[in-house]
Amino acid sequence: MSHTELGRVDIENLSISLGSGKQAFEAVQDVSVSIAPGEFICLLGPSGCGKSTLLGALAGHLPASGGLRVDARPINGPDAERGIVFQQHTLFPWKSVIDNVAFGLKMQGIRRDTRREQARELLKLVGLGGFEEHYPAQLSGGMQQRVEIARVLINSPKVILMDEPFGALDAQTRIMMQQLLLRVWERFNTTIVFVTHDIDEALFLADRILVMSARPGRIIEDLALDFQRPRDAELLTSQAFMHLKRHCLQLLHLQGA
Ligand code: ADP
Ligand code: MG
Repeated sequence: MSHTELGRVDIENLSISLGSGKQAFEAVQDVSVSIAPGEFICLLGPSGCGKSTLLGALAGHLPASGGLRVDARPINGPDAERGIVFQQHTLFPWKSVIDNVAFGLKMQGIRRDTRREQARELLKLVGLGGFEEHYPAQLSGGMQQRVEIARVLINSPKVILMDEPFGALDAQTRIMMQQLLLRVWERFNTTIVFVTHDIDEALFLADRILVMSARPGRIIEDLALDFQRPRDAELLTSQAFMHLKRHCLQLLHLQGA
């Protein structure tokens, strides 16, 4: 199999219950979807609809009923083949930027100079050449998220799972990060499942938007986007974009968002 054929995700009749006893409730209900290798998927839905829960199941952090497979292999726990980027930072504060990025290779027993060389290259790719020896606390929020991305990429994941990764950034930085992410994705062709409640963000990034209902989260629309790539900020004000934005707004309003 060539690399571009890896990263197929199949979700089949997935339901997820949270809480226990009288507090138990269904957070995700009967979701079935297939994601092609290299596809950029955005999961869009109102706050509390179960987006993070669904992503958590793909990460292997949550028991789920129904089928979850990557390249036909069942998901039954966390694995470096599925890299995760959250909104909040998960970097080791006591490690330098380069050692944070190289960490995944250290776990694989790869020698120090080899792993640092790869980390250095990825840091360049995300625009952080020259910051190798800095510590996370010395970086801005956007720069820390770039380190998070590099740190996931070093494991050559088949799938990258992102949970509102740019949600805490200011509008300007956020757009820069979206463009950076698209460049990285175009280069590595990794499958991405990106959670957001921001319609603009979903429309700008995705090949396909899966719109979720209010709790319990179901997929209420599977929207393919054919905006040309590479995409730039001009897209945000185009007619076609506005049209689909209105459509998504209506869908979300129907959900009480
Ligand atoms: P989203 O990411 O779309 O905002 P979540 O997946 O985080 O939504 O949450 C879905 C629903 O489950 C929400 O109503 C949330 O309050 C609830 N929830 C999330 N995690 C837990 C938990 N560990 N125990 C109980 N309820 C939870
Ligand atoms: Mg969430």
